[in-house]
Formats: sequence, structure tokens, C-alpha cells
Amino acid sequence: MKISKYLLPIGEMPRQWYNITADLPTPMQPPVTPDGKPITPDMLAPVFPMNLIEQEVSRERWIDIPDEVLELLSIWRPTPLVRATRLEKFLKTPARIYYKDESVSPPGSHKPNTAVAQAWYNKQFGIKKLTTETGAGQWGSALSFACNLVGLECKVFMVRISFDQKPYRKTMMQVWGGNCVASPSNETQAGRDVLKKMPDTPGSLGIAISEAIEAAVTDKSGKTRYSLGSVLNHVILHQTIIGLEAKKQLKMAGEKKPDLVIGCAGGGSNFAGLSFPFVNDKINGEKIEFIPVESSTCPKMTKGPFTYDFGDIAKMTPLLPMFTLGHSFVPPPIHAGGLRYHGMAPLVSQCIIEGLIKPRAYNQLKCYESAMTWAKTEGYICAPETSHAIACVIEEAKRAKDEGKEKVILFNYSGHGLLDLAGYNKYLSGKLTDVTLPDDELCDSLKAIKDLPKAAIKKTGKW
Ligand SMILES: *Cc1c(COP(=O)(O)O)cnc(C)c1O
Repeated sequence: MKISKYLLPIGEMPRQWYNITADLPTPMQPPVTPDGKPITPDMLAPVFPMNLIEQEVSRERWIDIPDEVLELLSIWRPTPLVRATRLEKFLKTPARIYYKDESVSPPGSHKPNTAVAQAWYNKQFGIKKLTTETGAGQWGSALSFACNLVGLECKVFMVRISFDQKPYRKTMMQVWGGNCVASPSNETQAGRDVLKKMPDTPGSLGIAISEAIEAAVTDKSGKTRYSLGSVLNHVILHQTIIGLEAKKQLKMAGEKKPDLVIGCAGGGSNFAGLSFPFVNDKINGEKIEFIPVESSTCPKMTKGPFTYDFGDIAKMTPLLPMFTLGHSFVPPPIHAGGLRYHGMAPLVSQCIIEGLIKPRAYNQLKCYESAMTWAKTEGYICAPETSHAIACVIEEAKRAKDEGKEKVILFNYSGHGLLDLAGYNKYLSGKLTDVTLPDDELCDSLKAIKDLPKAAIKKTGKW
């Protein structure tokens, strides 16, 4: 029997997270206020607990994973590394395709990797309740799951379009004790303001973030904090367990290194989590390519500028240096809800500026076609977000065939699509269309950020 699945013993789980900030060839620019002053940890204290703020600003290369967090992670970790031999055969490619299966967690994606860590650190800090936003419902269900594990209350503002299209995610949150409302909601000033101007809006992650932050900072008990499922440094830090495990597992498979690392990218956390331990190798001289894949309807990395922008529409977050379409950008309603965020993680953005990684955008029809090929060869039904990574894998495996090259392709299988069957249904009945983004929509949201401070483009020119 040929072996195609590589399982790490629980005892071999990584004991530390990897912080790429320590190794970036040009230092990160700090988050700033609208008048350009650097944000200090104190200013973040009403929003996040200090132990997570310390991780957010840390320059330490390795950060210990507390034993209790490791125990929580071990509910589903280590996750398998699998070789997609059936897809390889179908494509007749000489490429060896490996995927890290993050769909095996209870909520079904990579998101609980940071959810359990964040819930645990908040609990340690004496917090009683977390608020958050969710797009496709993956993050809301991950945080509800995590809060239930450590004994915190959880309040979730869910983007309206997904709230309507994905009712079962809401049920999952309720099963784990989370309280979920559609955003924009009438429960916050930010929500009421948006509803007044656009009563029929499908909502956006930016709007939902505004509501969740407002709900946290206006709680008079002082025991509520906000939690973000992507974008920030500490979130990406927690996700690096994916790449650290994958490194050990690739060795088990007899591979020296991947040639190509691929992940879909909404806010950037699953892509970065798999990639950054390998980006470290590239910084140290290894030859590896990295491709974060976004949706062509929300093309911040391929069409947006790199500049300072708010993380949310109500301008409650600090300004972050990132690729962005503007905080007021509301993407067309596509099925990959997790790819609808207007900005890209500052750490991923800086790696793009540096030339270490090269983003790509695909439209949703091509991605569903790829998801179908995947399901018919490998068997699993992937999340619509994950299908963007798979579309890229298939394209690159075909290229390897054309070029006759034995490439090692590694990608992140960020989640399963068993609660996203409405999108598959539409695809199968021929009703799924490609949404093209009108240029003027981009222009409008970009105009709104032109007076904000500019982020400097700093790179070594080595890559
Ligand atoms: C949330 C989500 C994404 C996108 O978020 P990132 O922070 O970019 O990883 C991708 N895939 C799945 C399955 C998700 O739930």
C-alpha cells in the first residue's frame, strides 16, 4: 500500500509559535492614529487584553504556547498532511501536491487555532465576554466553540448576506452558546447609521467589526473585549502552528522543501499560518514561491494600493499599513464570504512589498469548477474560500506538466464546505455567475482614503 497521509504524533506538536516580525528584512511600520502618531499598547487596552497586545507588538522570534492552550488544540491537532494523489493522477502532472487539512477541527476550519488561544488569554486576563464579527460564519462558530471551552460569553455580529445564506452556521454558534445577530444591526450606533443610509445592504466585514468593537468598548463592566479572527499580528502568530507542523510532516514524506506554497487569502491568516515558517527559509536563501489567492471581486492585493487604512467602516480601529480597497468598500455578494474583507494583513502586505510572495486573483466560476474537480478526485467538498487555493493549485500543477517539472506544491485546505452547499447548488443548477467589479466602485472607496497618512514602501530589493 502506498502511503499518502502523514500524521504527526500528539507529542510532536510544536511548543512555540513563530513570529516573522523578528526576521522581516525591513521592519514593520506601526499602526497609527489618523494624524499619523504611532499607536501605543495603552491605546489598545479597551479593545484587547494586555497579554494579547504584548503578542501583537512582540519582536520575539519564538513565543511559547501555554500547556493549557496546547491541550485545547490537541482536541483536533496535529492535523493531517495529505498527498492529493488522485488529483495528481487526474491532471497527469509530475507535481507532488500536498495539503494541510485544517478542515478537521470541530467548527471545520483553521480559525479555532487562534480562537482557543485568544479565548484562553482573555480568560487569564479576567475577561468575561468576547464580541466579534463573522463573515461566512466560520469565525463566529470558531469563537463560540472556543469561548464555550474556556467559559466566556460570546456575542457575534454576522454579515447580513451570510446570516441569510448560511443559517446553519448560526445554529452551530447557538449550540456552543454563542449569541449571533445579523449585521448591520440595531444594537449599535455604527449599525443604526449604516441601516439609515443603506437599509438593504448585504453588510460587510468592515461594518460588522465596527459593531463588535463598539459593543466591547461601551460595556461599562470593563470585562468585555473584542476578538478578531484574521489580519492582526497575534492572529497570524497563532496560525503558524499549521506551517510548523507541515514542515515536520513534509520531512516524513521525504520532501526537503516545498517549491510552491499556496493558500486562499481573506484577511491573510490561514495563508500566513502555513507560509510564514517557510518564508523564513526563503529569507535565509531557500528558493520557494508563495501565492496568496484572493477573489477577483475583492482584489485588494492585486488592485489596491499599499497605504494606511482603517480596519473597519466606522474608523474605530487604528490605521494599519496594508493593501486595501478602502474601508468603505462593500464587495459584491459572492459565496466565499471569508474573502470579502477590504484589506490584507500588514504582515502579508509587507511580504508582498518585499517581493517574498506574489498574490493572484480568481473569479468564482473558475473556483467552483476547481472545487468540483477536487470533490470528484479527492472526495472532499471544500469551502468556497478554499476553492480559490485549489484553482491555483490546479493551474500550477498543469503548468508543471507543460514544463515537465517535478514540483512540490503545498497548500492549505482551510475548511470544508458542508455548510456551504447553497453555493454548490447554485453552481450545479447553472445559476452561478461571475460578478465583475465596476471600476467606479473601487474608485469611490479609494477616494475616501486618499487623505489618510501614507505608508512608506520599504524593501531591500533582494527578491
Ligand atoms: C475565514 C476563512 C478564510 C479566510 O480567512 P483568512 O484569514 O484569510 O485565512 C479562508 N478559508 C476558510 C475556510 C475560512 O473560514
